[in-house]
Amino acid sequence: MLDCAIIGGGPAGLTAGLYTTRGGLENVTMFEKGMPGGQITLSSEIENYPGVTGEITGMDLMMPWPEQCQKFGLKHEMVEVIKVSKDGDIFTIHKGDGTTQEAHSVIVGTGSRPRRAGFAGEDEFFGRGVSTCATCDGFFYKGKEVAVIGGGDTALEEALYLAKICTKVYLIHRRDEFRSAPNTVDRLKRTENIELVLNSVPDEVYGDNMGVTGIRVKNKDGKLRDIEVPGVFTFVGNDVNNQTLMQENGEFLCDMNAKGEVIVNISMATSLEGLYATGDMRIAAPKQVVSAAGDGAVAALQVISFVDEKLNG
Ligand code: FAD
Ligand code: NAP
Repeated sequence: MLDCAIIGGGPAGLTAGLYTTRGGLENVTMFEKGMPGGQITLSSEIENYPGVTGEITGMDLMMPWPEQCQKFGLKHEMVEVIKVSKDGDIFTIHKGDGTTQEAHSVIVGTGSRPRRAGFAGEDEFFGRGVSTCATCDGFFYKGKEVAVIGGGDTALEEALYLAKICTKVYLIHRRDEFRSAPNTVDRLKRTENIELVLNSVPDEVYGDNMGVTGIRVKNKDGKLRDIEVPGVFTFVGNDVNNQTLMQENGEFLCDMNAKGEVIVNISMATSLEGLYATGDMRIAAPKQVVSAAGDGAVAALQVISFVDEKLNG
C-alpha cells in the first residue's frame, strides 16, 4: 500500500515527489509512462524559470529533477496508468501492464497534449511533414522553408527556433494580434526570415507519397494562397490528459469543468477526498513550469497531513 501514488512525471509530478518524500512519506511511487520531465523537455528554450539565466533547453532544465527526488526516496515506475479508481477510502492504480497498486492518496499531474487544428490533410500527413514538435523534427527541414500555425507563446517561440534552422518560416495565424508575450512578438517581428501570414487559416495540407509539398491557406476575404513547404508545424493549444480519471460508467472520478479540466481548490484538492490534481490539467492553470511545480508542492504538503491523519488519527 502506497502512502501516495503520483501519476505523471512532469514538473508537477516530480515536485510532488520531492516534497512528499522529503516531507517524511516513506512509500511514494511516481508512475510516468515515458522519461520523467514532461512536455517542457520538447522546448528548445526556456527563459522564464526563476533563477535560471542564459540559454537553456527544456531538457537541460529538467534533467536533474528526477535524481533530486530519488535522493529522498521517490520510486519511479515507467508505466502508463490506465485508470485511477476508489473503493471505500483506498485508491487503486490500474496500470497498462495489467497490474494494480493500492494507495492511501493520489496526486495526478498528467499534463496536456498538443491539439489538432482540424484542417484537411492534417491527420493524413501527421508524422510525414505535419508535426507538433519543432525540437524533435525541425532538423529535418534544415536549409528548407516551413510553415508554422498558431499565434500563442508556443507557435511564436517555435517559429523563432525554426527560423535559426530553416531558410524561411511562414507564420500563419487566424488573427492579426498574438496571444504571446510582447517581447516574443517583438523578436518575431524583428526576424527577417519569418513572413507573417495573418488573418489566414489553413485550408489544406497536401503532398505525395513522400510527404508534404505545400499548404493552402485562406484569408478572411476568402482568398486562397498556396505556400510550397515540405514541413508544417501546428501549435494551436493543448487538451488536458484526464483519461486516467474516467470511470467505466463514463463519469469522472471527481468534478471537472466543461473543458475537461479538474476542479480543485487552492490546496489542489479535488471534490474526492485524498485525490489532488496539479499542473496543466487543473482549472485556471497558468500552464507554466513554475506554477506546475508550485502545484506539486502545495498538493504534497496537503497529502502529508492527509496521510498522517488517516494513519495516525
Ligand atoms: P506535463 O509537463 O505535461 O507532464 C505530464 C507528464 O505525465 C508527462 O511526462 C506524461 O508522459 C505523463 N503522463 C501523462 N499521462 C500519463 C499516464 N496515463 N500514465 C503515466 N504518465 C502519464 N512553460 C514555461 O514556464 N516556460 C516556457 O518557456 C514554456 N515553453 C513551452 C514550450 C513548449 C513547446 C511547450 C509544449 C510547453 C511550454 N511550456 C512552458 C509549458 C510547460 O511545459 C507546461 O506548463 C508544464 O510542463 C506542465 O507541467 P505538468 O507537470 O502539469 O505536465
Ligand atoms: P494557446 O495560448 O492556446 O494559443 C493557441 C493559438 O492557436 C492561438 O493563437 C489560437 O488563435 C490558435 N488556434 C487555436 N485553434 C486553432 C485552429 N483550429 N486553427 C488555427 N489556429 C488556431 O496555446 P499555446 O501557445 O500552446 O500555449 C498554451 C499555454 O502554455 C499558454 O498558457 C502559454 O502561455 C503557455 N506557454 C508559455 C510559454 C512561455 O511562458 N514562454 C511557452 C509556451 C507555452 P487565437 O489567438 O485566435 O485564439
